[in-house]
Amino acid sequence: MRSIAVVGASLAGLSAARALRNQGFDGRLTLIGTEWHRPYDRPPLSKEFLAGRLSEADLSLEAEDEDLGVEWKLGVTAVGLDPRSRSVLLGDGTSERADGIVIATGATARSLPGNGGLDGVHTLRSLDDARALRADLVGGRRLVVIGAGFIGAEVASTARELGLDVTVVEAAPIPFANVLGAEMGTTVASLHGDHGVRLICGVGVRALTGTDRVNGVLLDDGRTLPADVVLVGIGARPNVEWLEGSGVQLGNGVLCDAAGATNVPGVVAVGDCAAWFDPAVGQHHRVEHWTGALQRPAAAAVTLLSGGMTVPEPPKSPYFWSDQYDTKIQFVGYARPGDKLVVEEGDVANRSFLAVYYRDDQPVAVLSMNQVRLFTRWRRRIDAVTTR
Ligand code: FAD
Repeated sequence: MRSIAVVGASLAGLSAARALRNQGFDGRLTLIGTEWHRPYDRPPLSKEFLAGRLSEADLSLEAEDEDLGVEWKLGVTAVGLDPRSRSVLLGDGTSERADGIVIATGATARSLPGNGGLDGVHTLRSLDDARALRADLVGGRRLVVIGAGFIGAEVASTARELGLDVTVVEAAPIPFANVLGAEMGTTVASLHGDHGVRLICGVGVRALTGTDRVNGVLLDDGRTLPADVVLVGIGARPNVEWLEGSGVQLGNGVLCDAAGATNVPGVVAVGDCAAWFDPAVGQHHRVEHWTGALQRPAAAAVTLLSGGMTVPEPPKSPYFWSDQYDTKIQFVGYARPGDKLVVEEGDVANRSFLAVYYRDDQPVAVLSMNQVRLFTRWRRRIDAVTTR
């Protein structure tokens, strides 16, 4: 393999480039990215950067003296893939031929259908989104967050810190219940009430109101919430449209085996756009977590450079963290309805505890609030169970 093109120049793409070089690849390495920015870190966009505690320079993912010998093609979008010639077709009319291809195109924030481009309505995925949202988060304004997922909850928390009046609307009866279960979903969501944020659950949004600028959110039950700013935080969809018709198998993301290989030889996928087969759940599973986008590219690089002849280490259990108000939330593993929940340490009422989900007496997932050291120990245990 003399040339590799990485499509998507963010965390997973950069991690793939690093892994390829670490594993001895010394050929031509090209990183192609739609954004003009060099790789930057997204988690602070809803936290410290949005609050003004980190600058844009602080977000860089590259070390100052890092030189991977990469050819950067930034501000260029991949629009197609020809698997026979292994060429990535680019929006500027050119193409990039390579012996190996890494798909790392991530995800895009979903928007509300028909939101009509009103001023004051935001989604949050990119640095440009965060700049625009930050400019609108002025103390005293009324913010309505649509969707009580992790990004919505973090923006609510930051906006509260900045002195806005915040309401969060969630269509599901209990936020986070699909990931954490109903009991712990309720516990995490109660942070909003602790900090003076109104949480309205079990009701959808019918429309946004306003002429040029948004002035309200009309709910399905007929209520209108007054709003100066709206954050739509209703999840993300994988950026895989550009692969349609290429022969690369798609489902909810790029379908890969447990080592990152797609059905097309010489093409692997990593990060938020990739749905790796996960033996722990017996199906393809797309993970939108920072740690997966950082770690899994090393396995995909092994797969690509060995032509699938070397089996990389199995991926670790999915892990994410979220910072909301003064609380660090950490979760690892897979919880399912019916798992037995045991609070092993601390006190749920004080928002400082560690809870373990057991299935057939085996720990399968762990949630903690403000218990970082203990969580780290339990995380190793979960990894030992799920990767053996
Ligand atoms: P992305 O970061 O989405 O990067 C994909 C890149 O590919 C983008 O630059 C995109 O422009 C580019 N691209 C897309 N299509 C094309 C194309 N056709 N051609 C060329 N380039 C293309 N995770 C946690 O675990 N904890 C957190 O607290 C947390 N907080 C977050 C807060 C925010 C606001 C956001 C947005 C995410 C957060 N995440 C968090 C998730 C984490 O940031 C992602 O899992 C991670 O960024 C995924 O990296 P990626 O490289 O796969 O995708």
